[in-house]
Amino acid sequence: MAGTLYLVPTPIGNLGDVSPRIRETLLSADFLAAEDTRVTANLLRHLDMKKPLVSYYEHNKRESGEKILARLLGGETCALVTDAGTPAISDPGEDLVALCAQHGVSVVAVCGPCAAITALAVSGLPTGRFTFEGFLSVNKKSRMEHLNSLLAEHRTMIFYEAPHKLQATLEDMGKAFGMERKISLCRELTKLHEEVIRTDFAGAIAHFAEIPPRGEFVLIVAGKEEKEDAPLTLEDAIALAQSKIEGGMSKKDAVKLISQETGFPKNALYEAVLK
Ligand code: SAM
Repeated sequence: MAGTLYLVPTPIGNLGDVSPRIRETLLSADFLAAEDTRVTANLLRHLDMKKPLVSYYEHNKRESGEKILARLLGGETCALVTDAGTPAISDPGEDLVALCAQHGVSVVAVCGPCAAITALAVSGLPTGRFTFEGFLSVNKKSRMEHLNSLLAEHRTMIFYEAPHKLQATLEDMGKAFGMERKISLCRELTKLHEEVIRTDFAGAIAHFAEIPPRGEFVLIVAGKEEKEDAPLTLEDAIALAQSKIEGGMSKKDAVKLISQETGFPKNALYEAVLK
């Protein structure tokens, strides 16, 4: 009979977040598949545990995934862990889960730390409906496409970001969503220097111009307000198209997008933004 793949969350900072079930699952697994075996070896040392480790990360996920699958089909149990947080959320674990599902291997998720949900809960922004957006691409065109696809989003949005890219991301998001849009920047969650900055894009950009960003961040961005849906004038639509162009979009794409969003004809917008 095939074994089971256990998805085992690990602390995103605070080692006290290893629950008894997390500990027991790690202990009882035949082997662990880890994103960075050095990081996991440190955790195991802290837990006073020794387990066989295999490496499973972005650049070996196909080959290593097949080997892990073969062992699972052979009856072993595997605990999948990432460097921090819940496996399969913004990491290659999602591919291993899909592979197991395809081959009828049972997958069990143990509950535990996840940066996205922890940040959403503490953000102070609406949590009733939300969307997880992960990391924006570093490619300018793809990241603008991603942001443009969210212009009409009413739900709270969750993004991951690395500190050295934070300022550029805030600038791009501010241009797309408007500098007055609310954002909660959740930094170093569960760690000693945990901080939640509840502000708007203008405030966030000013803050990090003074204090360079350090540590890990989750960005929680408010959705578009319902009242922003009040009927737009042609002048509003022209201003929207103009701001897209200033944000790096071509005139043609900006006009097409704003025309689709507002219903004003493309030629009226095109003539106006050319002026
Ligand atoms: N699977 C993980 C999870 O469930 O949280 C996320 C993995 S993703 C590769 C790593 C990103 O999570 C970081 O770049 C950062 O955006 C976020 N993150 C991880 N730990 C964090 C923490 N302690 N505080 C804030 N953000 C954190």
